[in-house]
Amino acid sequence: MGDRIPWDQTTGVVVVGFGAAGAVAAITAHDHRADVLILEKQPFENHLSTSSMSGGAFICPTDVTAAIQYMEHLCRVNEELCWTDKDILRVWAEYTSQNRRWVEGLGGKVELRARGGEHDLPGSDCIEVYNFRGRGQGLMKFLKGQVEMRGIHIMYETEADALLTNVQGEITGVRAKRGGGPIHIKASQAVIMAPGGFEFNEEMKLNYLKVYPAYFAGSPANTGDGIQMVQEVGASLWHMNCCSASWVLKFPDFPIALGPDFGGIRGFKKWVNSAAKGVPCGYIIVDKYGKRFTNENFKRHTLYYELSLYDSQKLEYPRVPSYWIFDRKRIEAGPLPLMFYGPMLYRLYRWSKDNQEEIEKGWIVREDNIENLAYRLEMDPFVLNQTIQNYNQYCQQKEDTEFYRPPQHLVPIQESPFFAVKIWPGSANTQGGPRRNHKAQVLKGNGEPIPRLYAAGEFGSIYGMLYPGTGGNLAECIAFGRIAGENAARQPRR
Ligand SMILES: Cc1cc2nc3c(=O)[nH]c(=O)nc-3n(C[C@H](O)[C@H](O)[C@H](O)COP(=O)(O)OP(=O)(O)OC[C@H]3O[C@@H](n4cnc5c(N)ncnc54)[C@H](O)[C@@H]3O)c2cc1C
Repeated sequence: MGDRIPWDQTTGVVVVGFGAAGAVAAITAHDHRADVLILEKQPFENHLSTSSMSGGAFICPTDVTAAIQYMEHLCRVNEELCWTDKDILRVWAEYTSQNRRWVEGLGGKVELRARGGEHDLPGSDCIEVYNFRGRGQGLMKFLKGQVEMRGIHIMYETEADALLTNVQGEITGVRAKRGGGPIHIKASQAVIMAPGGFEFNEEMKLNYLKVYPAYFAGSPANTGDGIQMVQEVGASLWHMNCCSASWVLKFPDFPIALGPDFGGIRGFKKWVNSAAKGVPCGYIIVDKYGKRFTNENFKRHTLYYELSLYDSQKLEYPRVPSYWIFDRKRIEAGPLPLMFYGPMLYRLYRWSKDNQEEIEKGWIVREDNIENLAYRLEMDPFVLNQTIQNYNQYCQQKEDTEFYRPPQHLVPIQESPFFAVKIWPGSANTQGGPRRNHKAQVLKGNGEPIPRLYAAGEFGSIYGMLYPGTGGNLAECIAFGRIAGENAARQPRR
């Protein structure tokens, strides 16, 4: 119990995790006159958060009422049930609509990226998406500068592993591993948990997500540590089976997933900075059996759910893995992963310019004809051949009568050699974690707040099954980082 702890250090507000949410919470709590200390488990020299590996886009709605409407439609399940309480959606709308002003007010540079939410629902027109200059890397550099400018101390290589409480059940501080031993840090006002998701915890993904395996492109430090910490003090969890995800490349000898660059025109938009920019490359995605199952003009943050289909007769996931099938044109257009995304942004893996090294490693399967490709993938050659013939026929007639892929994206697969790469469910992040209220307080099973405990960011995100679209998580990091920071700083000192 916190009352009898020999404290190693005392501060007002302890923030666990130095990603975007932790940084914004720390800045805000400081600006509301709290003494703040950030605990970060990674070392200073190579600290890499998912926030810094991200695209750096964030949502900023132009109209609070319309934003509430959009979120209510997104979260509604039926008359009684909603993924997220209405008062939380209201503060989300109020705070996210100030995101741009907040960032620019501190000197951050942003530019408009897109208008409109990802889903065509009432209110979606009010969504504007801004890119932070320099993307996630630029955003975290900027936030770090703000933290340092305020003299907020970041204790690196300090892994929080327990929340400490007093006899009244109030959170009094944090126990952390540092330099081989435990340290105890007293939070005289509050603790804000912002340690990210559980993208790199295999057991949690197996138990909580809709499909296994699922792979993610962010920081391997996100191992869901905080979830057990908050459960031990009675927190209730929510959104544990929800993710913002589609499909990714993942290879056994590299731990982080990579985003696929389908080349030229992909899905609903041209990829900016695509290696194959401007080269329209023919490709399809097929299941284990060589059949297409979706319009490749997919939704970036929702397609994951389509991969989670389970076949109860065969006792398997027929779409895990799926295969990206393409021809010579795409190989010649440049590296297969998106170079501006996740680990490639930091060159954590050096992909060969002509893809040859990865062909030699067996990551990319190459064959001179479709039959041999099918044998290598353990598919029926007749089925794969038929799928490609049908697809090429749709390209010729400029109409995909099976999945309705837009005509401008119909490019045939016909130039030998032919290639295949495994595609897995996953991509950006998990959303699950402790349930929070509109003040960012962590809630118990009975709905009461755990005194002096707050959460922000993707650690118990407010998003349920449907994600509002590009920029949703960072929007929430900024909004709930501020909400948590303000409310934590209001707590009286003990
Ligand atoms: C490739 C990629 C691109 C993306 N692009 C976008 C985008 O453009 N827009 C958008 O909105 N979202 C995007 N996302 C999602 C978004 O980046 C994340 O949801 C968001 O950055 C999460 O921020 P966070 O502050 O909650 O956590 P994180 O940024 O993950 O930070 C958590 C921090 O906590 C630390 N930590 C973990 N456990 C402990 C512990 N026990 N003790 C101390 N420290 C701990 C970690 O080391 C880490 O530094 C993207 C994700 C990926 C992977």
